[in-house]
Amino acid sequence: MTIAVIGGGPAGLMAAGLAAEAGASVTLFEKNPKVGRKLAITGKGRCNVTNNCDVQTVLANVPVNPRFLYSALGRFSPADAMAFFEKLGVPLKTERGGRVFPVSDKAIDVVDALFFWVKRAGVTIVNEPVEDILTRDGRVTGVFAGNHDHKADRVILATGGASYPLTGSTGDGYRFAKALGHTIVPPRPSLVPLVEDGTACQSLMGLSLRNVAITVLENDKTIYQDFGEMLFTHFGLSGPLILSASAHMRHFGSKNYRIEIDLKPALDEKTLDKRVLGDFEKHKNSDFVNALGELLPRKLIPAVIEAAGIDPRVKVHSITKAERASLVRVLKHFPIRISGARPIAEAIVTTGGVSVKQVDPKTMASKITPGLYFAGEILDVDAYTGGFNLQIAWATGRLAGLSAAQEDV
Ligand SMILES: Cc1cc2nc3c(=O)[nH]c(=O)nc-3n(C[C@H](O)[C@H](O)[C@H](O)COP(=O)(O)OP(=O)(O)OC[C@H]3O[C@@H](n4cnc5c(N)ncnc54)[C@H](O)[C@@H]3O)c2cc1C
Repeated sequence: MTIAVIGGGPAGLMAAGLAAEAGASVTLFEKNPKVGRKLAITGKGRCNVTNNCDVQTVLANVPVNPRFLYSALGRFSPADAMAFFEKLGVPLKTERGGRVFPVSDKAIDVVDALFFWVKRAGVTIVNEPVEDILTRDGRVTGVFAGNHDHKADRVILATGGASYPLTGSTGDGYRFAKALGHTIVPPRPSLVPLVEDGTACQSLMGLSLRNVAITVLENDKTIYQDFGEMLFTHFGLSGPLILSASAHMRHFGSKNYRIEIDLKPALDEKTLDKRVLGDFEKHKNSDFVNALGELLPRKLIPAVIEAAGIDPRVKVHSITKAERASLVRVLKHFPIRISGARPIAEAIVTTGGVSVKQVDPKTMASKITPGLYFAGEILDVDAYTGGFNLQIAWATGRLAGLSAAQEDV
């Protein structure tokens, strides 16, 4: 059995290594000079390999088409992924929220371990972009790369999504799959910075907030809450908290979104009001704009005052109870209206891709083109942050590799 794997990312590497171990003659085509370029920058260079949780929890973190992944994850769970990497010589550790990282904190260790493993398994790596998938009578016969036809009984398409294109994930696979008759659910950004509807963030550009809570409202209804770190930018909001939140905001254009930032999540409104009263007492003869220095970062004070609708030059002792209540409300619900997401190139993952209706979940084989298999982010599945996207790449890559290597499928 000869197999061509297109794409040397996590899914393609996993598929190639396992297919070769199962006895197939495997060639992996990667258009970059090295495999795993995106993998090497995952988790801020630390690689959040998987999440130390059960399969049900992984599925709960997949907002689109989780049922499609049932078989793949059932056969290769996070525990299996952890055992796999430990066996490859990458010791792992589990951090907050079940996030699993290499003990070394180096993503490159994961890339190297996979690279040497596929080489040991006998995979031939060709550093050329695949330009086309070859077929005869609707069945795959190989790939076209480096000005040559490369014959193969089976082709595994693992070219990733369309985010961070400089890493090589430029969406080529969508084109190949579409040409063979597959439906491509329009690729859109997920885990992506958000664009503000307005200009409040501009004046706060560069300000990073730690230990804040956010609430995402869709048409005024709460759909998500989280706690952590975020950043104001010239276009809107970014940072880990915001990227995670963006994955829940899937209807820009048809629904309205607002993010409310709780700037003092450790204090309930009553306690916060007492704290504000204390600060007011200390600064009772100052202008209001000078009374919030102990409560807020300097840059944030004018924006909070404006949102509370209070004159910044009024003396603190003349602030009314209603105005104080308005200030407390803004501190707990600082509002930013969101108009949309940044472009897909800036997204951590792509949502959309090859329709899973046309892929057999038990084998990752195309239901349309005999001999073609899919793995990883090219499929119309994506997950929230926490190591779940890589877990999907490992599990679908493994299933595609093992299925493609079987003679009788
Ligand atoms: C900055 C960043 C951080 C991330 N951190 C995490 C994290 O910590 N944990 C997590 O779970 N997920 C993380 N992700 C998401 C995760 O990296 C992806 O979901 C995962 O890499 C998808 O794997 P893949 O193999 O499907 O595709 P990719 O990793 O995109 O690999 C596809 C490969 O195919 C190659 N290719 C494309 N077209 C061709 C062609 N025509 N011919 C030959 N080769 C081709 C590309 O060069 C690329 O190497 C992160 C993503 C980004 C951008």
